[in-house]
Parts: sequence; C-alpha cells; structure tokens
Amino acid sequence: MSTSSADPAVATRGVWRGLLVEYADRMPIGADTPIVTLREGGTPLIHSEFLSELTGCDVHLKFDGVNPTGSFKDRGMTLAISKAKEAGAEAVICASTGNTSAAAAAYAAKAGLTAAVVVPKGRIALGKLAQAVIHGATVLQVDGNFDDALEVCRDLADRYPVELVNSVNPYRIDGQRTAAWEICDQLGRAPDLHLLPVGNAGNITAHWRGYREYHADGVIDALPVVHGFQAAGASPIVRGERVTSPSTIATAIRIGNPASWPHAVAAAEESGGSITAVSDRQILAAFRLSARHGVFAELASTAPIAGLLALHEQGRLPSGATVVCVLTGHGLKDPDWAVAGAGEPTTIPVDADRAARVLGLA
Ligand SMILES: *Cc1c(COP(=O)(O)O)cnc(C)c1O
Repeated sequence: MSTSSADPAVATRGVWRGLLVEYADRMPIGADTPIVTLREGGTPLIHSEFLSELTGCDVHLKFDGVNPTGSFKDRGMTLAISKAKEAGAEAVICASTGNTSAAAAAYAAKAGLTAAVVVPKGRIALGKLAQAVIHGATVLQVDGNFDDALEVCRDLADRYPVELVNSVNPYRIDGQRTAAWEICDQLGRAPDLHLLPVGNAGNITAHWRGYREYHADGVIDALPVVHGFQAAGASPIVRGERVTSPSTIATAIRIGNPASWPHAVAAAEESGGSITAVSDRQILAAFRLSARHGVFAELASTAPIAGLLALHEQGRLPSGATVVCVLTGHGLKDPDWAVAGAGEPTTIPVDADRAARVLGLA
C-alpha cells in the first residue's frame, strides 16, 4: 500500500515544516518574505541515561548536529538568507571557522544567490570545506585567524554590494532563538540548567533571548541558569581580554575576539550562570564519551559535556536538576579525530569461523 500525498492528513501528519513556518508568529517575516528553507530545526532532544546516572541530574542532549548542513548555523541562516533575498541582495558573504560557510553556501544555493566565504587558512575541517565547495560558494582563505577573516568581511560588506551573514547580522540571532523554544516545547518547561559551547557568542546570546521571550509571554514560568564553555586556549571571555592567537582542537570555537562578547557576559550574569573554560583534553574525553553512548557530535559541541562533568566534580550541580547540553554540530564534519589512534580494522579471509575467533565468540 502506498501513502498518497493527495491525502492532506497523511501528507502533513507530524511533518516538521522548518523553523520559519513553525515559529512564524515569533519571526520578523511578512507575507512577502520568500521562505528559503531546507526544513531546518525540529532537532531531537535526546535523554542521556548515562550522563543522568553519572551526575544525579536528568540530562538531555539537544542534538543540533542533525540540521540539514550538520550544525545549528542553519537556524540563523534560513532567516538571514530569506531576508537577504527579500531585500533584493544577489550576493552574500561570511567569515567562518567552517560551519557558517557550509550553511551560507547551502542556503544561498537554495535561494539562487551567489556566496563567498572567507576562512582561516589551513584551519577548517575538511567536511566543512567540502560543503562550501560542493554548494558552489567561492572560498577565500585568509592568512590569519577567524577574527581576521571577519574583519575582512565586515569591511567588504561596508564598501561593496554584498550582504554579510555572520552573526553580527541580527537575523542570524533571531533565527537561533528557536533552539531555546524547541527545548521548552520538547520538555514542556524550561530546563534548570542550559549548557552550550561559546565561540563568537552568537548562540548563547540567541538562546538567552529566546528563553526570556518565552518567559515574558508566560510560555515558561522559570528561566534556566546558563553556563557557557570556551576552550581553554581560546577563552577571551574567561580571561577578560582578547586572545590574539587562539588555539584549540575544537576549531568551531577557536575565536579570540567574540562579536557578541557583552551579550554572552549578560546571559551568564542575568541567569546566575557562568562562562568558564574546558581544556582540549576534557573536550576530547567528552567527545569520545558522547560517541560511546550513541551521539556523534563534533569536538566543539562536546565542550558542554566536558563542562557538565567539571561542574559535577566541583559539586556545583543541584541534584535532580533538569539539564540540557546543546550539541551544536555533527561529528562527521571532522572525522579525523574519531579515527585518530584507532588503527586499521583487522582483515580476515571470507570465513565466518575466523571472524568468530577475532570477535571472541569461539
Ligand atoms: C559556530 C559554532 C559554535 C560557536 O557558536 P557561537 O555562536 O559562535 O558562540 C559552536 N559549535 C559549533 C559546532 C559551531 O559551528
């Protein structure tokens, strides 16, 4: 029996229509805004039995790595590109540690716009570069870091007819608020603690705004405590000063001068939370731990899991608290770290008995 798409009930049952449609009433869009969507958002909130048992909390993972281009950047990009198209733009530009360029390239391609992306030379994961290239974006490498790339893009957008779609574009932040709304809609309340990685600090800004709006409208009756985590080698907010040569294996948060710095500090302060640093060693351990329990998220994404374990060790987790860790990107973006040190798989002849012996079954 085939399901007929002519039956409207069957065609629409449980189908996620993309966040601009699902949250249209909270978005700066009008009847004339062309909706450029790849059906982003609606990502799973996954209960982690393992982390719950370990910490004595009720821990959930918001896996934003399963967005269409493999990171949360799609949430802001669907709106930024829709608004750029509405405004008649023909070209968009962004600086990126990789995921923004992947999202910009994909949404620009969907919209029929030209995209150029500026990335730090030799510092972006292969999977992310592959996405920008295959979607047809022009890739420029800058001899410098992310902060230098953003400076080039801001200057370009100031003086030439291109639309900047970095998170300094307010529509990016507007779109990213949806992650907080989805978490509340999925839990039926706000979590007690909301943990996420911090790079350029757009996401923490957006999530805190999202929660406050739901709270102001009476959708939730309490706000979460927000804890943001930077990588120790790229932790300007924690140190209180710009880092000129940020360094971490978590390339998505390898940023020394976050564009939304003051908003990130405000989110932590107003919510009673914090912004602290986790080491690359802690991030790598969290990356492996998460994957061993079924969720393969990219390195930067697992900083909040590293942070959760650190808070637990410091005795700073209220027991029984409902905790959400936002896992911002997919592990396949940068598979090198997954196979590093794993060695070659064992080769066997076409022989089940040999396979059984290798597997310890015989
Ligand atoms: C962009 C990105 C971050 C950092 O988000 P900001 O909004 O820049 O703080 C974290 N993780 C992943 C996977 C990202 O792509």
